[in-house]
Amino acid sequence: MLYNKRACNIFAPAFRTQKGENKLLSVIIPSYNEEGNVVRAADTVSQLLEDNAIDYELVFVNDGSSDKTWEMINGLAQSRQHIVGVNFSRNFGKESAIFAGLEVAKGDACVLLDCDLQFPPEVIIEMYNIWKNNDVDVVEGRKKSRGKENFVYKAFSHLFYKMINGSSGLDMRAASDFKLMDRAVVDSLNAMPERLTFFRAMSSWVGYKTEQVYFDVRDREVGESKWTVGKLIKFALNNITSFTSAPLQIVTVCGIITFIISVIMGINTLYNKFFGDASAGFSTVIILQLFTSSIIMFSLGIIGFYISKIYEEIKQRPRYIIKEIVRKDTFSGGGYKWKK
Ligand code: UDP
Ligand code: MG
Repeated sequence: MLYNKRACNIFAPAFRTQKGENKLLSVIIPSYNEEGNVVRAADTVSQLLEDNAIDYELVFVNDGSSDKTWEMINGLAQSRQHIVGVNFSRNFGKESAIFAGLEVAKGDACVLLDCDLQFPPEVIIEMYNIWKNNDVDVVEGRKKSRGKENFVYKAFSHLFYKMINGSSGLDMRAASDFKLMDRAVVDSLNAMPERLTFFRAMSSWVGYKTEQVYFDVRDREVGESKWTVGKLIKFALNNITSFTSAPLQIVTVCGIITFIISVIMGINTLYNKFFGDASAGFSTVIILQLFTSSIIMFSLGIIGFYISKIYEEIKQRPRYIIKEIVRKDTFSGGGYKWKK
């Protein structure tokens, strides 16, 4: 088993690689039930990078697929150079697969790509050239269009990004996981200790000099999107609670509002007691009771959610468990299985 290591300090390494010569580019490809896409992705990206004379490795992370994805990755990693296969012990989710890929990658720069090639691979060349020829550490792919999305999905994603943007000050609506990062940025990300990760936000949070490229999201050609409504809601709630404390402030705001209402109601009640008809206040009492108790329940729910996140972080479990790493041994020429 391989656990992701924990670093004590988050310092950018003092040693920075010199750009200029041909540098190793790691392409990290999280794959979950992608048996129809693995070979296509490997062939397309390899061809593209070889045509452009870029030194590369493809790091496929099998995120506990239930189909033949691992068999395919394993086959490729054992027979072809440049291909590394990482196998999880179960499905840990795309976020974990990204971070596992970043840990295993050896490149001077790393780029993330979806296995379904919805992010156009040609853009990697553009990103690589910008990174190599300029003093930039991150080349971020931003979506020109968001692809096919239904109305409900659009509405919820709008709300989600509003919350994240508002609290973090980072504009993330057009951000994507399609990003090229310098080794220094990857090391900074690897050093971040939290268990619950949100790559898009964390990779903006670390800072560094960033350049943007724009791309169109393509439609998925093979297989289906791995996101279910349940998974999306969990993803949104996890990311909101691990990245912003705005909902906790909602609790405070609700408290202030109910306090103001209760002061007004209180004055009104006292007025009625001394100058009016006091016995007519039952409905007010009931409404107030219901109102305050629902606000209290709601607030407790939000606080409970944060406590559960703290609980998860405090358990210090690894973000993922790697069962094996496979890569073709460049010295002996044979495939070997890395196991610990
Ligand atoms: N993925 C993963 N683990 C998961 C779900 C998805 O590694 O639990 C990978 C998937 O194989 C793909 C990428 O994440 O390479 C994006 O997933 P998908 O295409 O299903 O998402 P969408 O493009 O619909 O947002
Ligand atoms: Mg996709």
